[in-house]
Amino acid sequence: MKFNQLPLHERILKAIHDTGYSTPTPIQLKAIPKVNKGADVIGIAQTGTGKTAAFTLPLLSKLVDKTEAKEARHTRVLIIAPTRELVQQIHENIRSYAKYTNLRTAVIIGGVSDKGQIVKLNSGVDILIATPGRLLDLVEKGHGNFHQIEALVLDEADRMLDMGFIPDIRTIVKKLPKSKQTLLFSATLNSQIESITKEFLNSPTLIEVERRASPAHTIEQIIYEIQEHQKTELLEHLLNSSHEFYAVMVFARTKLGAEELSTALKMEGFTAEAIHGDRSQGQRKRALDDFKKGKVRVLVATDVAARGIDVDNVTHVINYDFPEQSEDYIHRIGRTGRAGSKGVAITFVSQRNQHALKKVEKLIQKTLPKKTLPDFEYDPSTPEPTRRNTPVAAKKSGRTGDYQNKFANRKNNAGAKRPSSNKPKSKTKKTKRRR
Ligand code: AMP
Repeated sequence: MKFNQLPLHERILKAIHDTGYSTPTPIQLKAIPKVNKGADVIGIAQTGTGKTAAFTLPLLSKLVDKTEAKEARHTRVLIIAPTRELVQQIHENIRSYAKYTNLRTAVIIGGVSDKGQIVKLNSGVDILIATPGRLLDLVEKGHGNFHQIEALVLDEADRMLDMGFIPDIRTIVKKLPKSKQTLLFSATLNSQIESITKEFLNSPTLIEVERRASPAHTIEQIIYEIQEHQKTELLEHLLNSSHEFYAVMVFARTKLGAEELSTALKMEGFTAEAIHGDRSQGQRKRALDDFKKGKVRVLVATDVAARGIDVDNVTHVINYDFPEQSEDYIHRIGRTGRAGSKGVAITFVSQRNQHALKKVEKLIQKTLPKKTLPDFEYDPSTPEPTRRNTPVAAKKSGRTGDYQNKFANRKNNAGAKRPSSNKPKSKTKKTKRRR
């Protein structure tokens, strides 16, 4: 089926044509007619399935003609999403789909001044895309006009639940008209999500595409078993081993871990940036833009900051730290192998992750292949350190001394192989190389 067979406005179809999409994705095929008819919808779909277009295209189509007949604008579509990046991404999508219309949009997010947002809110926009915290803040100060909201979208509802946003959303929803269309998207449908749908939706239609427990077939998944204290060394080794690692997303468990890992990589001469909740909105946006443009080769991210981020052509996802929740494994590796392209997902597994690995394998119903690198010197003896082991802490504590000694030993050992043919440098003399 083609897009022009779906109930979409001709100006929206023209914009879709410009994006180059040829056929609707399964979630679009199922959701667009339902949303067009005004039904409440629960969409169970992972990121990368085209779910943003599945709800924005029909909502925009319905607004187009009505908008031109009206003088004063009231917000008629409110989209709430968990992270600033996701809000901005949805906004960018809407801007491109609505380019042949007069629809006005605004973004409401934290981490930046609220002045411009207040002006936009009060001047009247058709579509508002917001994170819950800042939106509630402005709503409670009396800004905006929500009496004519026709549609509410709760995107990534499972993550909003995890992040504790439901009470804020409850307060916001109380300010909206009772009679409206509500769409809720989530990667999973568990009992908590079900109770939220009962609270916010009215006789919803359930649309489910491709379960989360099935990563795209285009992603090659590999496990490297490694001791905690060798993870940074292994990451650097991989980055040095092949130029195919040119757009690499690395996942760290904590904000501090992400920051320290990106610093450690930069110290080794790699172009790397971190995105996590402690970085300002400007820094996060710049890091993401530079990664998208290819100026930065490695983006180190926490799960929350990376949620829903859509970057084309991520060649590799590396789970530097094993995901805390099994389902995050699928979210993370879904950053690569998007829209039918090939991708590689590498997961570092230490002794302490063995149980969690079993849980992931159970979830995806697949035993992941374990590989070893013939030219990497594994430390066979050292027991797993129990103390905290972040890359910079490791460097400061002198544990990289082991690392340096190993390189020195290898250099002195005529028979030993280098860790990689294109990394002949001494670790004791740090040379900055741009990669
Ligand atoms: P999403 O699941 O909304 O994060 O979308 C994932 C990616 O798929 C985005 O880069 C969209 O631009 C792209 N996309 C959405 N719909 C289509 C389509 N019908 N054909 C090709 N790509 C699409």
